[in-house]
Amino acid sequence: MVDVLVVGAGPVGLACAMEAKRLGLSHLVLERGTVAETIYRFPRNMVFFSEGKNLEIGGHPLVAHGPKPTRREALLYYQRVAEREALNVLTHTEVLRLEGQEGGFQVLAKDRYRERTFLARYVVLATGYYGNPNRLGVPGEDLPHVFHRYEEGEAFFGRKVAVIGGSNSAVEAALELYRAGAQVTLVHRGTWVRPSVKYWLLPDFENRVKEGSIQALMEAWVEAITPEGLCLRRPGGRAFLPADFVLVLIGYRAEDRLLREAGVVYEGEKPRLTPEFETSIPGLFAVGSCAFGPDTRSVFIENGREHARLALSAIAKRLAP
Ligand SMILES: Cc1cc2nc3c(=O)[nH]c(=O)nc-3n(C[C@H](O)[C@H](O)[C@H](O)COP(=O)(O)OP(=O)(O)OC[C@H]3O[C@@H](n4cnc5c(N)ncnc54)[C@H](O)[C@@H]3O)c2cc1C
Repeated sequence: MVDVLVVGAGPVGLACAMEAKRLGLSHLVLERGTVAETIYRFPRNMVFFSEGKNLEIGGHPLVAHGPKPTRREALLYYQRVAEREALNVLTHTEVLRLEGQEGGFQVLAKDRYRERTFLARYVVLATGYYGNPNRLGVPGEDLPHVFHRYEEGEAFFGRKVAVIGGSNSAVEAALELYRAGAQVTLVHRGTWVRPSVKYWLLPDFENRVKEGSIQALMEAWVEAITPEGLCLRRPGGRAFLPADFVLVLIGYRAEDRLLREAGVVYEGEKPRLTPEFETSIPGLFAVGSCAFGPDTRSVFIENGREHARLALSAIAKRLAP
């Protein structure tokens, strides 16, 4: 039995494992993909909004080539930190269910071949939100030409692509798709894209729209997606936008299935937590964005790593002889 079992090897889960080690607790991290799976799945050419020092964990310096780290720099950084710290991470092992409480949890997981049960005194969930993209909830959303994540633009060369959304992910994808030779229309229900879009992307986007390289359809609500395009409602009436591919990039919500199925008490859309991030089930903690329901904008790596510190010191105090 380990002292602390962490679910998720993102930046926050890794910070938990490092804290556990430093506090003299045994640990195990179960991760359904690779270390820093979320960053591995980010758009290939993404540059972080944060500077390197705000993404660091465990005091290891993150040195980037430019002013902000790229996806690949951050990915290699987290993987090397896990290696250098000799963290006990089982990758490609997805947690299916957990039961029990303080002092005796059973965690059922599935690796590439089989199901296994792990035992732990404490469990910390750090499952993030990237695995749970928001959906429009309209007919046609599950058609094969509709995607809820963007990786890179080259696959869409020469085709009509509708990008739905008005914040960073949508604007960044629209710009890349245009440069990869796609005919892009950004569709958004607001009057313009969010002012919080990365400061180096916003003027680029505005200029591409002004010159007509990217179409922007504002105040447009998607009512349905068909194999041929989008059925829209606009202030002046209904409209149809032809599209070969559709990218729905409208944010995320916490990946909290394990919390809900374990029977944790919720207040509205968020689990009830102590200041140390313990849920209503004694010994079960939830850190990082998995504990914040739809409010994914207020938790990022910089404050998520602080959750790890608070949760693990609470656990260490309770395990102290
Ligand atoms: C495009 C984009 C850009 C961003 N830019 C920034 C930025 O500049 N600065 C910043 O601070 N933040 C940024 N963020 C937010 C940042 O990525 C998240 O805050 C951060 O990844 C949260 O870390 P985490 O460890 O809580 O979750 P994640 O990194 O999402 O890690 C969760 C892990 O849990 C694993 N997992 C989930 N369920 C299970 C399960 N059942 N069993 C096993 N493993 C499981 C997942 O595979 C994943 O590896 C950005 C987010 C996006 C989408």
